[in-house]
Amino acid sequence: MEYLLSTNCLTKQYGKHNAVEQVSLHIRQGDIYGLIGRNGAGKTTLLKIISGLAAPTNGDFSLFGYEGKEKYQVMHRIGTLIEEPGVYPNHSAEENLKLKCIAMGVRNKEVVPQLLKTVGLHDAGKKRVKNFSLGMKQRLGIALALVGEPDLVVLDEPINGLDPQGIVEIRETIERLNKERNITFIISSHILEELSKIATNYGIIHNGRLLEELTREELLQKCSEHIELKTDDTAKACTVLEAMGIHKYKVVDKDTIQIFEHLSDGGEIAIKLAENSVKTLGISVKNEALEDYYLNLTGGDGND
Ligand code: ATP
Repeated sequence: MEYLLSTNCLTKQYGKHNAVEQVSLHIRQGDIYGLIGRNGAGKTTLLKIISGLAAPTNGDFSLFGYEGKEKYQVMHRIGTLIEEPGVYPNHSAEENLKLKCIAMGVRNKEVVPQLLKTVGLHDAGKKRVKNFSLGMKQRLGIALALVGEPDLVVLDEPINGLDPQGIVEIRETIERLNKERNITFIISSHILEELSKIATNYGIIHNGRLLEELTREELLQKCSEHIELKTDDTAKACTVLEAMGIHKYKVVDKDTIQIFEHLSDGGEIAIKLAENSVKTLGISVKNEALEDYYLNLTGGDGND
């Protein structure tokens, strides 16, 4: 099984509107997959389909190696926190977890205290959930998603509306569960900066379409400071760069090279290229912030 989850041209239509359109994403065991998109991009709809809470209009997906109808037999291996966690506001975290355990047939009495500890709610005592901070509610939501020891946990905007401390707590909880229990996560957000601190892989969704999938390394490389060189002959330009002792570069397309070292030597690079009869069509230092990269890709100004 190459992918723990892969979707194949998933489409979900509401009336005449495609909330999700031809989405093919790929998630491996152990990934923390960040699904990034603005409000209304289709994140929740996609996560609902993956979790078996909504049926696609077209397309299919494979889950833990199962496809078609068979995959619904392994849905119990997914834990979800989509939209508001379904909680009983007048009960404590412990009572909420006990009720979920009963509903899911989990009899081991150790599970609830363990889960409370995992998400840092062991001190919440008898406090009713309606009096919880947003961060505590989100952590309870994650604990509820963890009942039944899922292999894949789907979290829809788990950091939305949290204060910085709450964000750190959620992030640490997710990272710990990923490392210690090898749980794979899909986390949606409309803030790339937040996801970038935790996600190992990204899918960028806009107007229902998946624009790009990339690894953390690829994203950082795209956003890190570099020289962007436009030239009429990339092959020959690479030879010139090598001769200059420049080895950290990447040919991006037929006339663009990104150079990640010697950032202040743009002038010298252009001269050497000219000496070797390679035309420089443009040369500039780029340093795209994560958020700018995402906004450029989705063609917007950041207003949702
Ligand atoms: P948000 O963070 O605002 O929830 P999102 O990226 O999760 O955004 P979705 O909730 O998946 O986006 O919505 C995608 C599109 O589908 C939106 O235009 C939304 O209005 C529409 N949509 C979602 N659910 C329904 C539904 N049940 N009936 C009709 N349209 C829907």
